Amino acid sequence: MPIAHYAPAVYSRFCCTASACSDNCCIGWEIDIDPDTARFYDTLPGPDGDWLRAGISPPGELPRRFCAGEDGRCPFLDENNLCGAYLRLGERAMAEICREHPRFHNWCGPFVESGLGLCCEEACRLILTGREPFRLTRLEDLPDDPEGTMEPLEPLLALRRRAFRLLEERPLPEALEALARLGYAAQHCPGAPDRAPLPETALPPLTGQDGAALVEGFARLERLTDEWEGLLAQAAEHPELFGAFTLPGDPEAEGDYRQLAGYLLYRHLLPFGLDGDLCGPLVLPLAVCRLTAGLERLCGGGREQRLHLAKLFSKEVEYCEESLPALLPELTYRQALRERRAE
Ligand code: SF4
Repeated sequence: MPIAHYAPAVYSRFCCTASACSDNCCIGWEIDIDPDTARFYDTLPGPDGDWLRAGISPPGELPRRFCAGEDGRCPFLDENNLCGAYLRLGERAMAEICREHPRFHNWCGPFVESGLGLCCEEACRLILTGREPFRLTRLEDLPDDPEGTMEPLEPLLALRRRAFRLLEERPLPEALEALARLGYAAQHCPGAPDRAPLPETALPPLTGQDGAALVEGFARLERLTDEWEGLLAQAAEHPELFGAFTLPGDPEAEGDYRQLAGYLLYRHLLPFGLDGDLCGPLVLPLAVCRLTAGLERLCGGGREQRLHLAKLFSKEVEYCEESLPALLPELTYRQALRERRAE
């Protein structure tokens, strides 16, 4: 039986900007090759096969990967930053990750939710500059078998609907804080997290000390690029910029940050919630907005800067398997301390 497949409207609008992209995703990443594609490369006869095999790690070396050059470029990327393997042999020569990127898929038992990842500059632009309220549309069903039942998902979906209502109905700084409080309340109401009463008492104002803790939390994670490393080092010298979330002054800022928060809720609340963490993914939007807005002030600000920083956060934190699971308990712990201070 096919499985139901949902995605926000922006998902179907994405189109890779290819050679017009200033940040090609085939440069600077270690790209693994899925077994089907590796088999195709290993068995294709003739000069085409030899050419493909010269660009990937040999069969005995796992994981199978594209062999990036010194400059970090995928060996098949041509001088126009287009995929040479696709141009020469068509889609069959593209690894699954190359066909799928920057899409993500959350398999939630009886259904699948898909979206675009912020690590791609075009996806980031579409998501942050979009202004339509968050809605899912049903796409064509996928041919895989559904697993499990809706039962464990119902309270999580209700909690997510409630979180989106908060995000859409309140001024942004207040909404982000309310989400954090909702996360803490939901975590302590495991039987019916969606019906947990929202503590209306505001948290004590965030200070430079909280800013330092936030930056430290991100700095403890693995870092991929010198740019991110440098930004976090600068941030550590200005913790006062990372305390409370303050909206930058430009007219697009509130909408952009609301979109960023919505993206994080959509991408992370169900997967982490199914693993029993409700607080972490609801505290995350406040933490990421504080970090991004603080870095924006540090770097001079403006929309282009904002989009760039959101993309960097995504590349550094969302695409490293260990980073988010390490960050969320840290954020939750900080939240608990703050709640205690408010009592
Ligand atoms: S980062 Fe996005 S727009 Fe740029 S090449 Fe990759 S998929 Fe295309």
